[in-house]
This record gives sequence, C-alpha cells and structure tokens, in this order.
Amino acid sequence: MAKKNSGHTCSFCGGPMNPDAVVVPSPLQPGVLICSDCVEGISQLLTEVTGEKKTANAEKGIKPMDQVPTPRQINEYLNQYVIGQDSAKRYLSVAVYNHYKRLAQKTVKTDDDVDIEKSNIIIVGPTGTGKTLLAKTIARLLDVPFTIVDATVLTEAGYVGEDIESLLTRLLQVADYDVAKAERGIVFIDEIDKIARKSDNPSITRDVSGEGVQQGLLKLLEGSIVNVPPQGGRKHPEQKMIQVDTKNILFICGGAFDGIERKIAHRLNTHVVGYATDSTKQKIKRDNYLQYVAPQDLKSFGLIPEIIGRLPILTHLDPLDREALLRVLTEPKNAIIKQYQKMFAMDGVELTFTPDALDLIVDKAIEYKLGARGLRSIVESIMVDSMFNIPGSGEKELCITREYALEQIRKAHFETDAVQ
Ligand code: ADP
Repeated sequence: MAKKNSGHTCSFCGGPMNPDAVVVPSPLQPGVLICSDCVEGISQLLTEVTGEKKTANAEKGIKPMDQVPTPRQINEYLNQYVIGQDSAKRYLSVAVYNHYKRLAQKTVKTDDDVDIEKSNIIIVGPTGTGKTLLAKTIARLLDVPFTIVDATVLTEAGYVGEDIESLLTRLLQVADYDVAKAERGIVFIDEIDKIARKSDNPSITRDVSGEGVQQGLLKLLEGSIVNVPPQGGRKHPEQKMIQVDTKNILFICGGAFDGIERKIAHRLNTHVVGYATDSTKQKIKRDNYLQYVAPQDLKSFGLIPEIIGRLPILTHLDPLDREALLRVLTEPKNAIIKQYQKMFAMDGVELTFTPDALDLIVDKAIEYKLGARGLRSIVESIMVDSMFNIPGSGEKELCITREYALEQIRKAHFETDAVQ
C-alpha cells in the first residue's frame, strides 16, 4: 500500500525526500520503500531508452536490397494463394519491389540527383476476383506496415462520414504509432470506384462523396504532410493530431468499376473504326474488355485526371471462369476445401468431396452470380449439418457426393424451385 511520506526514507535514492512524495513499500522486503519521485524518474528514463530503441529499430527496418524478395519471388509467393490474375501479380510484384528500392535509396548514398518517385497502383476487377486477397497476401509477405481501408466511408471535410486523413489512422495503429515506420507503409484503398463523380462532366453543384473526396485524396497520394487523428474519426475532437509524411507511403487502390467494360468497348470500337486495320480488330477479345482498360476509361468512369495521374500503374483482374473457380476451391494454400478438411481432421474425420460435388459447387456459384465470394457460403450450407452431427459420433470418414450436396443446398433455401 502506498503511504504519504511521514518521515520515511526512500531506499532507492536515500536522499532527503520531497515532503509531498508518496512512498511505496516493497511487497517482499519489509522496510524497503521507494518514493514516487524516484518512480517517476525511472519511468521517464525507461521511456527515453525504449523510445530511442524504437527509432533505431525503425531505421534498421529498411531492408538492404539483397534481403528484399525479388519480383519473381513475390510472384511465386502470390501464386501459392491467388489463382490466375497473372497480369496483376506481375504489376504488384514489381511495384512492391520498387517500393523497397525507394526506401533503400535513402540509406544508400549515390552521387546522382535521381530520386526514385513512388508509383501508386490501381487495380480494376470485378468483385470477388481477388483484389483484397492479393493485398492481404502481399501484406503477409512484407514487413512494412500495411492496412486495408474502404473508400466508401470517406466524405469531404465537414460532412458526415470520415475525413480523408483518417485513412492513415489505421496505418499508424498497425505501426504501433511509430511515425517513421508508418511513413514507409502500404495502404490498400478498396472500392475506389465509389468515389467517382457521377458523370464525366465536372458538376456545378457540390458532389460531396465524389469529386471533393478525390481532391482530398490527391493530397495523400502525391505526398504531403498530413495531420492524422490518432484515434480516427471525429469522435475525439480533443485528440492531438500526428503529422505523417505520405511521400513514401505506397497506395494500392482497387475497385470493381461496374460498367466500365461498356466504356472500354465504346473507346475500342470508335478507335477501331477510325484507325485500325482488320487485323487489330480481330485481336480484341470481346469476352474480357477489362484487359484493355486504359487511363481514359477511368476518366470516363468519373475519376478526376489528377487522381489518375497519381495512380500511374493500372492493372486489371480477370473474371474467374469455372476452371478458375474450381482451382480456387481446392488449390490455394488456404483453399476453402482444405480449411474444411482441416476442421474435420481435428475431430478425427477424413473429409473428401467427389469431383462432381465440386463441379456442382462451382456451377451454383456461377448460377447465383456470386463468383469466388459465393463458394464459401455454398460449401458452408452443404457442410453445416455434418459439422453439427459428426463431432462425437465416432465417424471416421465423410464423403460429400453430388446428391448429398444438392440436397443440402436445397435445404439451405438457396433455391426455391426444384433443383435439377
Ligand atoms: P474482391 O476482388 O472483391 O476484393 P476478394 O479478394 O475479397 O474479392 O475475394 C473474395 C473471396 O474469393 C475470398 O475468400 C478469396 O479467397 C476468394 N478468391 C477470389 N479471387 C480469388 C483468386 N483469384 N484466387 C483464390 N481465391 C480467390
């Protein structure tokens, strides 16, 4: 129990004690006391020492280039988790590698005045094709702070919603509020298409969730010193802002850009009519216009040219066809089927699926237009009864057949009509 100083002597400093100081007795050694002044002094000292250590570690956190995974290695790592999407994987691998180069240029002295600038990335792809998965997988590989934020919550300062600066709050949090570390991080901004302005023509009226937000975002993307609320949001008006320099923060933006294919097709067709020969006309694959996405399509969609200019690396994700969906189900390190097999193995049960049951799951995901995102919910609906009944039943094997799967899907109200 702490006591007021009433003539006690502090065993730590031994010197004359401040009459207002409080003394704390040792819980183990009777008669051994420490005064609050000493505790405070020690606490300050510790903060200084650990603070210095943190800064030094942050400096060391910049990897020398020979320890950085090469683009090929990054790509190989991504291959273990993400099916297909080769073009996006290549772009991302190179961008992340170059991000390390840019960080390393500070530590390696060169005679020239060449300053490697960052190249933020924008990924256009239908929902459920792996944008977030790519970002998360990269995050696992990297040792720089990484966070995923959603652009839909953002509004212009002064309106209901989050201020743009709050995008960096999460980054600060994952960096343990170590500003130097956060300033080397990567931010994935999801649903960037949701802040597109509603039409290509600049509007006369205010577009609170569109152009204003884009203007605000511009500041972050191009690199400036931003005041970030450490707790985020506007709920804590008293919080002291933390200054973060975004110059070296890499931004990866992702969005589905629903309907952009029409704009791409329109551009290609007008272009083809004007200039192309018959041979180029034939080269355009009409089943996947996204692969031809170009900056001007983002502009037609409603991103302002300044933002597009700050996202110089533009890549796309392909829609997942049935073959790809089947692979998603079974192949990645973290494949859905593998996850269920692991869960059942923990109950001592060997779980298998017949090939036609797997085909059915894929067919249903396509039929419901849910893409890869739907695979899990379909498998869940098939497995829920077994997951309820099997533990404790003494069963050692479970094979999911097409017939059983169909029955379960119907039970789960995925379908109202009789299933063929
Ligand atoms: P989005 O493109 O909308 O961000 P996600 O990355 O969140 O989509 O994917 C949704 C789900 O589908 C995740 O569970 C993910 O594991 C799976 N998935 C999507 N695309 C792929 C892919 N190319 N390879 C492996 N799994 C995928």
